[in-house]
Amino acid sequence: MRPSLKLCALVVLILSSSLADAAAATKAVLSEPDWKAGVATVNITPSEQLRMSGYAARKKPAEGTLIDLYAKALALEDLRGRRVVILTLDLIGVPRLLRESVARQALERFQLPPSALVMNASHTHCGPVVRTGDAKGRDTDPLYQKEVAYRVELERRLVTLIGDALDALAPARLSYTFARAGFAMNRRTPTDKGYRNFPNPEGPVDHQVPVLQVSNEAGELKGVLFGYACHNTTLGIYLYGGDYAGFAQKYFEAAHPGVTALFLMGCGADQNPYPRSLIELAEQHGRTLATAVEAALQTTPRPVRGPLLAVQEDVLLDRTGKLDDYPYTLQILRFGNDLVMPILSSEVVVDYSLRLKKEFAGSAAVWVAGYSNDYCGYIPSRRVELEGGYEANGPWELDTEERIMAKLHELNRRMTTDAAPTPVTVKP
Ligand SMILES: [Zn+2]
Repeated sequence: MRPSLKLCALVVLILSSSLADAAAATKAVLSEPDWKAGVATVNITPSEQLRMSGYAARKKPAEGTLIDLYAKALALEDLRGRRVVILTLDLIGVPRLLRESVARQALERFQLPPSALVMNASHTHCGPVVRTGDAKGRDTDPLYQKEVAYRVELERRLVTLIGDALDALAPARLSYTFARAGFAMNRRTPTDKGYRNFPNPEGPVDHQVPVLQVSNEAGELKGVLFGYACHNTTLGIYLYGGDYAGFAQKYFEAAHPGVTALFLMGCGADQNPYPRSLIELAEQHGRTLATAVEAALQTTPRPVRGPLLAVQEDVLLDRTGKLDDYPYTLQILRFGNDLVMPILSSEVVVDYSLRLKKEFAGSAAVWVAGYSNDYCGYIPSRRVELEGGYEANGPWELDTEERIMAKLHELNRRMTTDAAPTPVTVKP
């Protein structure tokens, strides 16, 4: 039976008035925004076909583009005027020299301290090599010259991007939610001859998809920063592209016109996306991740307030036979007592993420990022180092995990004290 027109009109009336009530109620409970936020995006797809980074077996340069590569920036400022800029890059990693140069220019041009600049790479294996040297003495290699020219232009674009995000700062609210996605699987499988790079459904994983929502004064979504801990390696083809993380950002932005989606890589060094090796699978994992972000948005948001604190310090690590040899960069962002983000350099295995979430657990939500601010190969945990295998092939000594954890705890203790509300002094 078809409902009568009258009934339809009544239902529409009730629905629209209840929606209007809900909107009014939302407006009524919106407090003054306690943040300013700005987002900016720049296309960083090379105009030339350069050599690609990530798989030594690929000897030829790129042959085209599957989807464009982007750098994106999220600038945040708290009520006291303290700022951070989170830069996310569709690149294999962040070479130390690239970071130092961008950080130096951001300090000079925008007075942004290096501790307040996060540079995170999605670890796509379908991006160009990033040459940090110069082109001198490489006259016989015209491709090398083009690769150096790309890095010089990349640096210029990243500095401009930071400025654009800071220029866009406008009143905003922040909130945190999370969901889960299951396509990351541990890739360390025990065999009679040690650990093999092969899917292991029994190995540790971190399936959390943390999401920072950025809304404007009117409560409209303007940006989402989301994370996942999994190698961005569905593909190893001769086409530029951001792999599953690139597709996830693309799909989310297509479904939310005007919203910028930024991907922050977690501790996925011993995690792979499965199944893999087909463009359709990279799209599928991207769709899964974008859907997880949508799911996170449906849960109860946790308001994120200030004060904003940022610290960056190196911890000295031992490489085989050399004491206190490598300055490994650590960073923490703290959003009052609502969110804390330990940020580690290079390819960090999932044990760090799981351990930090346990040991940092308190009133603040914990979100761990890897692949940031420097690239120095795999960073195994003590367990992985003892077990051996691909992720344990680096030069690191057995106490690497303890040194990193001790330094992060020291930095976090310092910040927790700073984040405490200022005590009210009562006059006698
Ligand atoms: Zn890797």
